[in-house]
Amino acid sequence: MASIPKLMKGVWIEKTGGTDVLQYREDIPVPEPKEGEVLVKNEFVGINYIDTYFRTGLYPPPTLPYILGREGSGTIASLGPRCPPDLSENTRVVYMATSAYAEYTAVPVNYCIPIPDSISTETAAAACLQGLTALTLIREAHPVQRGDWVLVTAAAGGVGLWLMQLLKSVGARTIATASTPEKRELAKTFGAEVVLEYHEEDREKFVERVLKETGGEGVVAVFDSVGKATFDACLKCVRRKGTMCSFGNASGAVEPLAISRLSAKNIKLLRPTLFNYVATRDEFKHYSNELWDFITKDKMNVNIHEVYPLKDVVRATKDIEGRKTTGKLLLKP
Ligand code: NDP
Repeated sequence: MASIPKLMKGVWIEKTGGTDVLQYREDIPVPEPKEGEVLVKNEFVGINYIDTYFRTGLYPPPTLPYILGREGSGTIASLGPRCPPDLSENTRVVYMATSAYAEYTAVPVNYCIPIPDSISTETAAAACLQGLTALTLIREAHPVQRGDWVLVTAAAGGVGLWLMQLLKSVGARTIATASTPEKRELAKTFGAEVVLEYHEEDREKFVERVLKETGGEGVVAVFDSVGKATFDACLKCVRRKGTMCSFGNASGAVEPLAISRLSAKNIKLLRPTLFNYVATRDEFKHYSNELWDFITKDKMNVNIHEVYPLKDVVRATKDIEGRKTTGKLLLKP
């Protein structure tokens, strides 16, 4: 491994706001790995919609300045004390951690694992956070069974395309929503049985269509990541004793609701996060191994929208927030 510089390129914010607060810099101090951490030299950094929430302040950044980014892949440049034996200098790894929009990231070992030889460094970064989100949703939030009708919003996005493939592979029947005909076509190619639009003016029609497709019953589970704009319509689509899983806020945070609304159909309501499904290294490894199998054995498609140079972070961010993208966006430091 080449020697580690003192300063690095990266993207940070000094205050929350629009894309104008994103600062690409070349003078950010390289972090030192502490006990139980490794320093990763990033080759690919994943963009996730959550990065937007930290930038806008929907989720308050824990410190300022704050380096955005939650996942990446690359090689280990150095190790802090007390790291597990499967991690050593030059090991190719994928990880989930904060401060990934940079050349180097200090990563807690709980969320850092070696990449199998059969998976490229690019694919690992593209698959990790969004693939694990989809996988834990269908295994834990609502353990999906063969034949279940399931509704997914933002179906052509990063998590969405994973849900399309995984739901198909477990034999579910998926109703997918996306905003454009091209996105809906893509969702179908990736496994959706029925595709619907869900613009504001069509929302009642959208509920009607879901009920009609499911013989008037509604779906066994909804996986909704759009949030504020779609929550109410989605709740109407859940069948008796079904599950409403709200796992994102792309259109804004869901308004508080009276829990008595759930009793009309005995609905189970969840608001899960991936990090609580893979809180231990064993859990992270377990689901990652399952994800690698889906890619290598089941040939699931890791759809990469574009690999942007790190300095083009504003363009990449405007693309995902402007609903112009499908699948995964990566940054290359
Ligand atoms: P996506 O690639 O799915 O991009 C977001 C998509 O949301 C857009 O493409 C768009 O699809 C849709 N959307 C709907 N309304 C809006 C709006 N008002 N503004 C912008 N986009 C909108 O992102 P990710 O795959 O990274 O994440 C998907 C969702 O999953 C996010 O809400 C994210 O927060 C959530 N998530 C939650 C996790 C958890 O642990 N709970 C973990 C990972 C992701 P369209 O144009 O088709 O409507």
